[in-house]
Amino acid sequence: MKIAVLPGDGIGPEIIHQAVKVLNALNIGIEMQEAPIGGAGYESDGDPLPSRTLNLAKESDAVLLGAVGDWKYDSLPRESRPERGLLRIRKELNLFANLRPAILYPELASSSTLKAEVVAGLDIMIVRELTGDIYFGQPRGISVLADGQREGINTMRYSESEIRRIGHVAFNIAMKRNKKVCSVDKANVLETTELWRQVMIEVAKDYPEVELSHMYVDNAAMQLIRAPKQFDVVVTGNIFGDILSDEASMLTGSIGMLPSASLDSNNKGMYEPSHGSAPDIANKDIANPLATILSAAMMLRYTFNDEFNAGRIELAVKKALELGYRTADIYTAGTLKVGCNAMGDAVVAAL
Ligand code: NAD
Repeated sequence: MKIAVLPGDGIGPEIIHQAVKVLNALNIGIEMQEAPIGGAGYESDGDPLPSRTLNLAKESDAVLLGAVGDWKYDSLPRESRPERGLLRIRKELNLFANLRPAILYPELASSSTLKAEVVAGLDIMIVRELTGDIYFGQPRGISVLADGQREGINTMRYSESEIRRIGHVAFNIAMKRNKKVCSVDKANVLETTELWRQVMIEVAKDYPEVELSHMYVDNAAMQLIRAPKQFDVVVTGNIFGDILSDEASMLTGSIGMLPSASLDSNNKGMYEPSHGSAPDIANKDIANPLATILSAAMMLRYTFNDEFNAGRIELAVKKALELGYRTADIYTAGTLKVGCNAMGDAVVAAL
């Protein structure tokens, strides 16, 4: 198991260090090598995705990333900005499937803005297609019409094979979970998503144990707030997934808890917390490292097919929470406030 470790900027190095500590504590012979990305890449190599970093990522089995970005780079030309490094690495590695779990540990139910009984024990996986849809379809642009006014155009398009491959990802994940897939579309209005629905029904035939349902995106946005525990795996296109995954992440009320994965067609993946580089709290030892530690668990599950050790990490996180350890972002009265490093230690101790 060879992993490229890309700490990035802001709190990236602090939180990555905790995940590396946890992976080392498993003692399962993981080889890890670090390289710069984002602002750190710009500082060291003049490029937010230095070629040595890209090469390392390509020759590794998986990439574990902290976060990129800092306001001090906002005035750089677009190509040199930290976020550019992230978009380029996703494209270079052909990461078309984005997995965003929204999990709410019962101990943290009071952190959510929703009623505890609506969200306690929540465990949803949103599978978002990442390389197609209206974000990439041609034609696109802003042009001037004959009458002199401007017109903006974007094109929603999906080929059958693009839908099929993300469908298989979702059904395979459902097989490892509660065997329910809800496909979200707008098939009543958009032909692209009418095809999406037809192909999902075809893919489902390969997974007779999995129950497939369909939901229009407007209803899905509502149901996620009304009764989120009805969902197991949600699969949807790029633009709907962009919006729904952010909505789902807020059900948990704590961005520092949410991991993510982006996979290619061979289950090679890049694993990173859902949050950004939080420059406002960098180098203060107060960031929550659990999203990054849980991203490492996802890496073991989805790239290395090691359910046992993925589960061990997740149980250790749960145990640390049960023992009352909290970083500042999830702290409530009566619990034990700890820093980033001490939270990493608490997870290692629980392991
Ligand atoms: P952010 O996610 O970095 O921070 C939002 C808020 O959440 C901040 O108050 C921050 O302190 C807090 N927060 C985030 N992660 C936390 C953690 N682990 N523990 C405790 N608190 C945490 O978003 P932002 O402030 O909008 O962006 C900051 C920088 O991050 C920008 O440069 C942005 O471009 C970049 N960014 C990077 C990624 C990524 O690397 N995937 C994603 C989003 C934003």
